[in-house]
Amino acid sequence: MRVAIYTNEREVSWQVKQQLIEKLVEQGIEIDDHCPDIVLTVGGDGTVLHAVHHYINQIEDIKFIGIHTGHLGYYTDWLPSELDEVVDFLQQDHRNVCQYPLLSIVLCECGSTSYEVCHQLYAFNEMTLLNAYRTQHLNVTIDDLFFESFRGTGVCLSTPTGSTAYNKSLGGALIYPTLRAFQMTEIASINNNVFRTIGSPLIIPEEQTVTLQSENFKDVTITRDHLYESYQNIQKIRVSLSNRSVTFIKRREGLFWNRVKQHFL
Ligand code: NAP
Repeated sequence: MRVAIYTNEREVSWQVKQQLIEKLVEQGIEIDDHCPDIVLTVGGDGTVLHAVHHYINQIEDIKFIGIHTGHLGYYTDWLPSELDEVVDFLQQDHRNVCQYPLLSIVLCECGSTSYEVCHQLYAFNEMTLLNAYRTQHLNVTIDDLFFESFRGTGVCLSTPTGSTAYNKSLGGALIYPTLRAFQMTEIASINNNVFRTIGSPLIIPEEQTVTLQSENFKDVTITRDHLYESYQNIQKIRVSLSNRSVTFIKRREGLFWNRVKQHFL
């Protein structure tokens, strides 16, 4: 078994990393940051997002265990006071795994030869499409159905596990992490006698695809979790639930509603 430790920049996380290294070496467990079987993240849920993107190309070969150096998070089951238990747990049979899907984001741009060039990207919490400067016009299609013409700041499309993050701040529903669906929420839509959007968050089943199209994505920023980029020539964005997923070794089943209660109530 090869183990990597992925930490955020906080001093407390580095101290935990040092202690973990000592305990792993004592047990004869190999530390390998390049080709790990298991990644221990030390930090918060944000650190898990960074780790997922760091290992995105080999995500199917890796299992994650999260140690939270703050309070417990949604992706993190362990505290720094439990490092001996974590090392014991590492060496047990890992049957209790959860697989959380990634969001698939396909950006299509018109190449110089007028052929469509598409880029495949992934998000673990959500993607947002944001226009901070101007009213963004978007046509929203669900599979083959033209659904609405959106005007406003943007939209957020989140995974079930991302539903407790940005999606929640936008008034989206909390989705139980094992449900195979994704969600679209609006960001400051314009609704009046001329422009009308649905206004409610949409929960979309895994087999459907949302396509966002616009004549003008020029000033738009696309975020994926903590990452953000601007694109000049994008014409169409296809979003769906990917069949790629992130695997966690879970300490116990059924902690989700408990976490929701602890965090938000
Ligand atoms: P970050 O500091 O890494 O994360 C921002 C906060 O979101 C942190 O408190 C983090 O928890 C928490 N978080 C992350 N994933 C979560 C999840 N699945 N459920 C519940 N809470 C979660 O910030 P960042 O680098 O800018 O972006 C990372 C994430 O921040 C994005 O994916 C987005 O969901 C969220 N975000 C939220 C808003 C908003 O609510 N208005 C705006 C922008 C971004 P930890 O403290 O445990 O790391």
